[in-house]
Amino acid sequence: MDMSFFAPRYMDIGAGAASRIAVMLGRLGLNRPLIVTDPMMVKLGLIARVTEPLDRAGMVYTVFSETVPEPVDRVIEAGVRFAADLDIDCIVAFGGGSPIDTAKAINILLAAPEGTRMRTFKVPVVADTAALPLIAVPTTAGTGSEATRFTVITDTETDEKMLIGGLGALPLAAIVDFELSMSVPARTTADTGIDAFTHALEAFVSRRANPVSDSYARAALGLIGANLRAVYHEPDNVAAREAMMLGATLAGLAFSNASVALVHGMSRPIGAHFHVPHGLSNAMLLPAVTRYSLHAALPRYAEAARIAGFAEPEDADQLAGAKLVDELDTINFDLGVPTPEAFGIRRDDWYGRRAVMADQALASGSPANNPAVPDAAAIIGLYEAIY
Ligand code: NAD
Repeated sequence: MDMSFFAPRYMDIGAGAASRIAVMLGRLGLNRPLIVTDPMMVKLGLIARVTEPLDRAGMVYTVFSETVPEPVDRVIEAGVRFAADLDIDCIVAFGGGSPIDTAKAINILLAAPEGTRMRTFKVPVVADTAALPLIAVPTTAGTGSEATRFTVITDTETDEKMLIGGLGALPLAAIVDFELSMSVPARTTADTGIDAFTHALEAFVSRRANPVSDSYARAALGLIGANLRAVYHEPDNVAAREAMMLGATLAGLAFSNASVALVHGMSRPIGAHFHVPHGLSNAMLLPAVTRYSLHAALPRYAEAARIAGFAEPEDADQLAGAKLVDELDTINFDLGVPTPEAFGIRRDDWYGRRAVMADQALASGSPANNPAVPDAAAIIGLYEAIY
């Protein structure tokens, strides 16, 4: 079998790993980082987990903290202008998926001719070039962006959440320290946890899965399946936070290589048009899309259910698949995931945009990786079903 596999060169994983950031930079021959983060990391003081070790090591750094949740092209361009004339030798991306994706996108544009727009790099273009080594430090568990060769940026002129992929978006290194995630609020804990589960499941059933991505997906499904509820109901549960952080990173490695599928394809337009956080729009879709796709890869879905602990080892595929869909519905209920209607989206607005959203979902390419490949009408039907 021919396959290629992409992963960061160096990952430091575990409690307190952030305190070793200067050691990591030193081994990589780097010492003048630009730290890209969000205002919340500064307000909460969480950023000190990386700036204090850098101070102690005498490293000079600059902070760009003007990132926004679900990053948009204008903010990327502002970051490029900020970074262009700095004396820096690397980028440290610190925060949830939004600051990490922002940092990746800034890094790609920094390597392009001045004035290049973000949309130049949207798939199917391959964004293999970035300006600087990038070290990602996630504080949510999570998007897995620290381990992926993707960044997702919204085009503010077209309201399109663009997928951008290539080696230019793959961090050189990552620090995965679950202690950074202990302060994540309940809603974000649920949304990011379901996002990570979706990555693992979509990678596992993807038409582009391979034996290496499968091994990461299996490990992630087990960790996340066993800890998703605990981490939401018991925010101080250290073992659950640790398992979720590792699970999210492993799920990132899985989908970075196997790709995501229909849930993500349909989720990005919801985020772009209605400003629903990424993990939440995935959660709204996951049970219905799994129900729709089940017949096309039943043994895979059944195995995922058993690994996640949603079905018994002795359950036949049909029963295990049914239990998976039931459990995804129950998780959404238990973790307070709203429907689009309950989220506050008006019916005429949702129905008015469903055809455009279906076109954008198909254009992203992700639905083509799904076990059951939908046409526009099927996607519109799914949007209607979840409203
Ligand atoms: P986020 O980064 O937008 O953060 C959500 C909120 O949580 C923010 O207000 C943030 O300040 C806060 N927060 C983060 N860490 C915290 C902490 N430790 N304590 C308290 N508050 C904290 O959310 P996210 O779900 O991590 O990232 C979503 C983004 O990631 C989306 O733009 C999505 O498209 C993208 N994404 C990228 C990839 C990829 O491979 N590049 C994969 C999936 C999702």
